[in-house]
Amino acid sequence: MDWRVPLSDLDFGVEEENAVLEVLRSKWLTMGAVTQAFETEFARHAGVKHAFAVSNATEALHLACLALGIGAGDEVITPSLSFVATSNAVLYTGADVRFADINGLDDLTISPEDIERCISPRTKAIVVMHYGGYPCRMEEICRLAEKHHLPIIEDDAHCPGAKLRGRPLGAWGAIGCFSFFSNKNLSTGEGGMIVTDRDDLAEKIRLQRSHGMTSLTLERHKGHAYSYDVVELGYNYRIDEIRSALGRVQLEKLEANNRKRGAMTALYRTLLRESGVGLPFMGHPGEPAYHIFPILLPEGVDRFRFIDQMRLRQIQTSIHYPPTHLFKYYRERYGEIRLPVTEQAAAREVTLPLYPGMGEAAVRAVVEAVGESLRTLQPA
Ligand SMILES: *Cc1c(COP(=O)(O)O)cnc(C)c1O
Repeated sequence: MDWRVPLSDLDFGVEEENAVLEVLRSKWLTMGAVTQAFETEFARHAGVKHAFAVSNATEALHLACLALGIGAGDEVITPSLSFVATSNAVLYTGADVRFADINGLDDLTISPEDIERCISPRTKAIVVMHYGGYPCRMEEICRLAEKHHLPIIEDDAHCPGAKLRGRPLGAWGAIGCFSFFSNKNLSTGEGGMIVTDRDDLAEKIRLQRSHGMTSLTLERHKGHAYSYDVVELGYNYRIDEIRSALGRVQLEKLEANNRKRGAMTALYRTLLRESGVGLPFMGHPGEPAYHIFPILLPEGVDRFRFIDQMRLRQIQTSIHYPPTHLFKYYRERYGEIRLPVTEQAAAREVTLPLYPGMGEAAVRAVVEAVGESLRTLQPA
């Protein structure tokens, strides 16, 4: 399919090509100086002490749960309106999830009031996800987490570079988990980062990322270590130098690219004001990362026919997300769960194209297609 406007597009140029070539020519392909530099730079950028690069954010979320000692018999509160990995990562540990609803149709992030409703004697942690790169209500969530002595895991897949009250997202919870998947704001193909300020958690993460081994190949190579011990059951969740090299260049571009996403978002909002579609996150606090641009279709508009109409006009759209609690696996595991606000928002949500290189003309073309598609589906 030839899209006139695709849903997202990478900002890769000659800098990325050169960075990758340099790694290939160095013949050191995994967990070396480039990854260390990427981790140091990312930690500084995210305002945290420790950052560990991993192959994807799903692994980061799994490591986060393990580092916090979550396992069988425990419960973790998660948003259902997220990518399924947010909840899957909890289940990997043998623990269960409890789904909290979202705030409302104008704020699709997890509701602090509903988190509190979900807390039980088995609750061991709260996972928040900054939907679209828009900060969750972190002050309230931190207050209630403190009151109940629960650590917060941040799913930061949508929000590298975002801040709330000047503090980067990822630095609010005990652990933050970023994704560098192809369509994310900072992309390396597959990739992720797990960050924390706590030394005790960092030590656990360091071990479990690489088989529970006490020394790394690079340290042995440098003569700092001769052998290693395995002190706990770990995994191979490492990244490679090629992707770290991509990540370093992408990190350099992140701030400017997030600003461009913000400008496109502002233009969308101005042009769509009279269109009849719902525009979540208007006037949202903080400095968002503007990962995606979600709209809510007017009630009664058939969403799949709308998406078809957009496709006819060669505009690619998407859905964020089919709620996790409605998937077959989760229904069979947990039975009937009702999350009224999540269900209402999720049924009407369509994601319009957004990427840094988009330009005003493309935004106008999408808005025009939205208007035409709606007119086709609801004749006046
Ligand atoms: C992309 C995404 C993930 C998973 O990231 P991977 O790096 O693909 O494992 C998790 N949560 C959310 C909200 C995401 O958007």
